[in-house]
Amino acid sequence: MIDYDYRKPGNLEEVFSLLKEYGPHAALIAGGTDVMVKIRNTRKAPEVLISLRGLKELSYIRKNGDYHIGALATHRMLEQSDLVQRELTALYEGASRIGSVQVRNVATIAGNICNAAPSADTAGPLLALDAQVLLQGPEGERRVPITEFFTGTYKTVRKETEVVTEIRIPAEMERFGSAYWKQSRRKAMNLPIVGIAVSLRLDNATISDARIALTVAAPTPIRAYKAEEFLTGKPMDEAVLAEAGRIAASTDCCTLRDSLRGEAWYRAEIIEAYVPRMAKLAAERIN
Ligand SMILES: Cc1cc2nc3c(=O)[nH]c(=O)nc-3n(C[C@H](O)[C@H](O)[C@H](O)COP(=O)(O)OP(=O)(O)OC[C@H]3O[C@@H](n4cnc5c(N)ncnc54)[C@H](O)[C@@H]3O)c2cc1C
Repeated sequence: MIDYDYRKPGNLEEVFSLLKEYGPHAALIAGGTDVMVKIRNTRKAPEVLISLRGLKELSYIRKNGDYHIGALATHRMLEQSDLVQRELTALYEGASRIGSVQVRNVATIAGNICNAAPSADTAGPLLALDAQVLLQGPEGERRVPITEFFTGTYKTVRKETEVVTEIRIPAEMERFGSAYWKQSRRKAMNLPIVGIAVSLRLDNATISDARIALTVAAPTPIRAYKAEEFLTGKPMDEAVLAEAGRIAASTDCCTLRDSLRGEAWYRAEIIEAYVPRMAKLAAERIN
């Protein structure tokens, strides 16, 4: 029997005061699909779990200039949102491939990025969509670009006293098309061997802006900046896309490793093959 206290505050102020009271002995819990698995596997629990599920006001997806996604939006909400499917397609593809319907019904977007696994399925899409993470603490709110959010495997910039309240995606992303590929052994209940997200904009047939994000390609989810730079200003043709794939899969962009789920050479081949495919799909989805 693993012993811990469970608290369910009704507003953010109460969350802050509990975080202050218990400090390092407390952990936040949203859907619990990472937290509870970790407690079970390590047979260790924090003194108190502070549930965010009473904060119903953090459960939303809306467009108001920018796109606003509340921390407690579940993957199922993202999957069922016409707005996300139509305008943030890579995020729809990431969220809808997580676990199973049962997992997606409770697991949240903030939980996915705060857990900060290199394989997080919404991390690639959010990197490609230039998301920002809103964190609130007793001293106020700060906004961190998702490119600076992950500091290591299972580590983020979040301070012990802070709560992620929203993921914001800039309005300009409505002019981009986007796509995400999760390479995995099975269609459900499987983490990615590697994940590739691409968003881009075209000016006639020229790529005017591109973002490429990779998961399980480094200790954290990353952007493949060298491949993006190569694409920008180039025509959308097969040779250009193939070279972008090669650059993205190279050590200029990632630090691939062998693991139980896949070997480095295989991950490199998938990245090389799928960067061009995702770029084409993203281009087809503009507007
Ligand atoms: C069977 C199964 C299959 C899975 N399949 C996948 C998969 O295919 N792809 C994938 O990416 N993941 C997968 N996961 C992992 C998990 O479901 C996701 O990472 C999920 O999004 C976590 O969300 P949660 O709300 O359950 O987080 P929780 O477990 O509640 O929390 C995770 C972490 O985030 C912190 N946290 C949560 N919310 C906040 C907040 N608002 N502010 C600050 N910190 C916060 C918690 O303290 C904890 O450290 C799977 C898990 C299971 C059990």
